[in-house]
Parts: sequence; structure tokens; C-alpha cells
Amino acid sequence: CGIVGVTGNDNAVSILLEGLQKLEYRGYDSAGIYVNDLKGNDYLVKEKGRISDLKAAVTPDVHGVAGIGHTRWATHGVVSVANAHPQFSEDHRFYLVHNGVIENFKELKSQYLSDTTFESQTDTEVVVQLLDKFVRTENLSTKDAFTKTLSLLEGSSYGFLLVDSEDPDTLYVAKNKSPLLIGVGDGFNVVCSDAVAMLKETHDFLELHDGEVVTIKPDEILIEDQNGNKVERDTFHLDMDA
Ligand code: GLU
Repeated sequence: CGIVGVTGNDNAVSILLEGLQKLEYRGYDSAGIYVNDLKGNDYLVKEKGRISDLKAAVTPDVHGVAGIGHTRWATHGVVSVANAHPQFSEDHRFYLVHNGVIENFKELKSQYLSDTTFESQTDTEVVVQLLDKFVRTENLSTKDAFTKTLSLLEGSSYGFLLVDSEDPDTLYVAKNKSPLLIGVGDGFNVVCSDAVAMLKETHDFLELHDGEVVTIKPDEILIEDQNGNKVERDTFHLDMDA
């Protein structure tokens, strides 16, 4: 339902939590964050219920400079901590948040992932497990595995925000029929499904088009079209208060 992300900011945890709070008005049943401190520590915190419940579960040791967050409105799978996002791959390498519905997740699961252990009932977990499998078995880069996975999601709606814990200050983003924006900060960048989530951090945003794959680092945003061609796009300024 709601997506937030940040890379290159020491306050990643509070940026994500404040962002999720701004998205509460859209409705949700559970929420979670994944953060990484780029020094070998990472944290996944997920809770049912309110953002205040999630905040209460975030202990003082949870810290990071890059991370992703989500408010879930369950479509596939009951409301539970395991089904809350971020969803992650079997090897805990990839973490993914998702808005929308993967129409063919059952087919993908039986075709490619019969040997994989699943921890949730979500359509989303199939996507993160599949891209992890492509990285491991086909030796693809994270971006290429992400692109390949996207090409298999027939007729689905999605906003995706992905992080690879082996290269955690890079965020990967794609969307189809679901809104996502990149926010440009001073030395850091953010991602959100609705600008209100990040107006405290920036007023400069980049829109994303369906089918594009975006690679975001603290000081760089690379937008590529379906064919891997670089797309140039100007930011727009949103004159609105947080
Ligand atoms: N289909 C996903 C799920 O049920 C995402 C739902 C959402 O957009 O929050 O977990």
C-alpha cells in the first residue's frame, strides 16, 4: 500500500518511520522496515497494527544509512508479521517491498521455485525469491535479475523497491500501474509512493514511468527504459508543506 526508501542518510530509521506515518491515511494492516548501516549490520522489523506499534518494536540498536519501508494492505495472505513487508529471499540477501498484485505468482512459484522454502503466503515473496534464484543460478547482476523478473510478471500491478544487502546503499525501483517517486536530497536520495511521505526531506522529485528500472545511490540516480537505454529526466519542485 505505501512505500518509502532512503539511501545515504544517517537518519534512515527515523526518515522511514516518519514517512510511513505520513502514509497512514491510505489505510494498512501491518508495516515494516529494513535498514543497513553499510558496516555489516542490518535490521528487519515488522509488526501488525499501527505505525506506533512498529515504532515501539524498533529498539535503539536499530540503525542504518540505507533502508526501505512499507505499509501493507493485504491482498494475498492473512495479516501477519510473516506476511508484512519487507519480504526477503531464502538467503536473506534481498529485501523487497511491493504495492499491488502479482497476477501470475502461483504459476511462477510452481515453474521456478519448487525447491524454495517460503516464509510467507504473499505474492510478493515469489518475486524476491525468483530474482535471488536468477542471481544465484544464472550469475546475473542484481539489476539484470530484477529486470528479468519484471519481464515475467504478466499483467501485474506493482511499485517495487529492492535492496541487495551485499551492496546496500543502492536501491532498485520499478513500477507498473502503481505510483512511485524519487526524491532528491542533499547528499542522499529517497523513494516514496506519495510525495507527502518525504516532504520533510526534499521538495524535488523525479517521476517514474511504467517499465523503467531505476538504480539509486546516495549521489546518483540512473533511470533506464525497458531496453536498458538511459533516460534523462528533470526533477520537478513541489511547493507544498509537509
Ligand atoms: N500483494 C501484496 C501483499 O498482499 C502487497 C499488498 C499491498 O499493496 O500492500 O502482501
